[in-house]
Amino acid sequence: MVLGPVLLGAFLVGSAVVAVDRSRSTERLGVAAAAVRTSVDALCQQLRAAADAVALTAEAARPGTADQVVSRGLAAAVQVTDATGRVTYTTPGAPTTPWWDCTAAPAGGGPVRALSARVDLRDPAGVARGTVAAAWQVDTALVARLAAVTGVAVDLLDGPAGPADATAVTDRPRPAAAPDRVTEVDGRYLRRVGPAPGQPLPLLLSVPSDRPTGLYPALVAAVLLAGLLAVLAAARLARVTTRPLVELAGAADRVARGDLTARVPVRSQDEIGRLATAFNRMTRETDCYVQALTTSRDQLRSHLAVLGDTLASTHDLQRILRVILHSAIVATGARAGAVLLLDTSGTLVGRCAEGLAGRWPDDDPAGPAMLRVPVGHGVVGAVAATGEPRRGRADPAAPVGSGEPRCATYVAVPFTVPDAAPTDPDPTEASGPGPTAPADRAGGPEPDGPDGPDGPDGQGAAAGGGAAIGVLVLYDRHGGDEFDDDDLATLGAFAGHAAVAVDNVRIHEEAQRLSLTDPLTGLWNYRYLRESLRREVERANRFGRMLSVLALDLDRFKVVNDTYGHAAGDAVLAEFAHRLRGEIREVDLAFRQGGEEFVLLLPETDARGAAIVAERLGAVVRDSPIIVGTNTGVTVPVPVTVSVGIAVYPDHATVGQQVLDAADSALYAAKAAGRDTYRVAEPPARPTRKEIPVAVRAVTPADGLPRAGAPGGASSGPHPPRQGRGR
Ligand code: GH3
Ligand code: MG
Ligand code: MG
Repeated sequence: MVLGPVLLGAFLVGSAVVAVDRSRSTERLGVAAAAVRTSVDALCQQLRAAADAVALTAEAARPGTADQVVSRGLAAAVQVTDATGRVTYTTPGAPTTPWWDCTAAPAGGGPVRALSARVDLRDPAGVARGTVAAAWQVDTALVARLAAVTGVAVDLLDGPAGPADATAVTDRPRPAAAPDRVTEVDGRYLRRVGPAPGQPLPLLLSVPSDRPTGLYPALVAAVLLAGLLAVLAAARLARVTTRPLVELAGAADRVARGDLTARVPVRSQDEIGRLATAFNRMTRETDCYVQALTTSRDQLRSHLAVLGDTLASTHDLQRILRVILHSAIVATGARAGAVLLLDTSGTLVGRCAEGLAGRWPDDDPAGPAMLRVPVGHGVVGAVAATGEPRRGRADPAAPVGSGEPRCATYVAVPFTVPDAAPTDPDPTEASGPGPTAPADRAGGPEPDGPDGPDGPDGQGAAAGGGAAIGVLVLYDRHGGDEFDDDDLATLGAFAGHAAVAVDNVRIHEEAQRLSLTDPLTGLWNYRYLRESLRREVERANRFGRMLSVLALDLDRFKVVNDTYGHAAGDAVLAEFAHRLRGEIREVDLAFRQGGEEFVLLLPETDARGAAIVAERLGAVVRDSPIIVGTNTGVTVPVPVTVSVGIAVYPDHATVGQQVLDAADSALYAAKAAGRDTYRVAEPPARPTRKEIPVAVRAVTPADGLPRAGAPGGASSGPHPPRQGRGR
């Protein structure tokens, strides 16, 4: 690119120099040609005058005149001819003929030896008497004279003396160029002049070229220098321009391969430098962004792992909701939040909360304990009522609704469980074999009780089939921005987890309830009896209270089966259980131990109270025969009675199973006593260190235990007083 203009410039310079040189030389040669013509013309005039002078003299004096003319230098030679053309006189030393006549065009070739002017000799009558010719020798002197007059080199072409010029250059070229045309040969400009009428000399004028010698080498050197400079400039440009671009391309490659630490050096403040600065800033910010994303992803991943572990490993709803809430807060960048579940009265109750302290108008330290919102009220109430999520801004100085905390921004989503009823406000208290029993504390679970599938309809029925069982709400996003739709989506996912957790707990509770209850009667089963017995004994022991255990067995139940069929027997068992539940307190527990055998646990009840219950039970069973359908399809009243054995902790044993065994023993006693009655277990004999006087022939009592014989034990004797049926 650089060499092109340089070459063009060199060409133009060369051409211009040549053109100027040629023009100047042509001009000089033109002037010289005119001078040659003038000089030759003047010489011819001079020769003509000399010839005239000889011709004007008398014939006899003509030789003398001719000699004078020659001697005075007016001509080199004079020749007189007569009318016949015969030479009558020639001055001595005349050049050899033929002479070229000034006025005539040269005829034929041959060297030019002399130039002559001829005048005719005529007599007074005008008759031609001969001619007088005056000649001038054409030699190197004449050529030198012409050269001196013209100022250019003059050569005589085909002259008699060969090449001759004033500069004595003998090897000058003699091109056969057309007359009056300028040609250049070997560094000289040449122009042929003559022969022509009036100037018969064939002359070659030449001037040396004025073109500076070494023009072309200089131009070539200039071009080469320009090329070298171009190469150097290109190398410099490559350093300045290309290298940063190469570095930039390499860094971009590294970024494309995922290396966000790639940076390029900023060497200038031009566009390249600005590009490099922008590139560095872009990669730095992208790196920060990616690191933030990675950190956030790792956090989310660890929270999800915790969430997954929690969901998979526990049915502790409280803990699950806490983890879900915390994960949702971290994922959305909220400052606070809460999970509320709908209770059976249609109120949303805060089940767990984070960051809510100090957000109530009166700064109540109870904080989340105040989080009770009726469905339809405030933000969370509206979300539960409509089933539609909400987000927005609120007045930071005032709560968003009654019972709700103060916040600047909020987002709340409902969560639903298909076909779910509102949950107990605190289902964890009823979950598992804790101190309190699941579901119906009074005797046993009620299939159609308030916790069953047919419980009261939730007021927060959400659109889409499922009932809103709770709301997940977050407050005050970090940075002050409103929660956006992405947060809604994120929160929706966590709300889904919460719903699944609540549902799982519900299912778990139901499964547990089913595993602990008897399907025929709905009473607790034997498995739960053992657990409850241990727990109730422990509780009684801890609080220093009594616990009565009643073992019940329907009398001659085999006969019922045999008479009315097994189905009728089942119906009798179910009805008996129903009556049983109706006769006990809420804190009492009723179990079907197996077959037609039942157990009652009556906390804080002594033998006296237990006897009253036994009597009442006996009466309620005995007094109203149970109406059942038989195998044949008719309904019949079936008279039923029950026998009851009573044992009391700690009177009869201090270990649960032993208390139950004692009650069983008492039951046998009741059976033995004729059935349809109750008996209280005998208190165990206490071992003593006191020496007991034993009769010589005494035998061990039937129970194998020694008798203290103390008067204080009412039922300590081998034959306790028979207890009546309590009627
Ligand atoms: P006793 O007064 O001595 O207790 O006489 P009983 O007939 O009740 O005593 P037994 O233990 O000999 O008979 C119990 C009967 O209860 C035997 C069985 O047919 C009946 N049975 C046990 N479980 C069920 C049950 O789930 N359904 C029905 N229909 N009958 C049962
Ligand atoms: Mg039995
Ligand atoms: Mg029986």
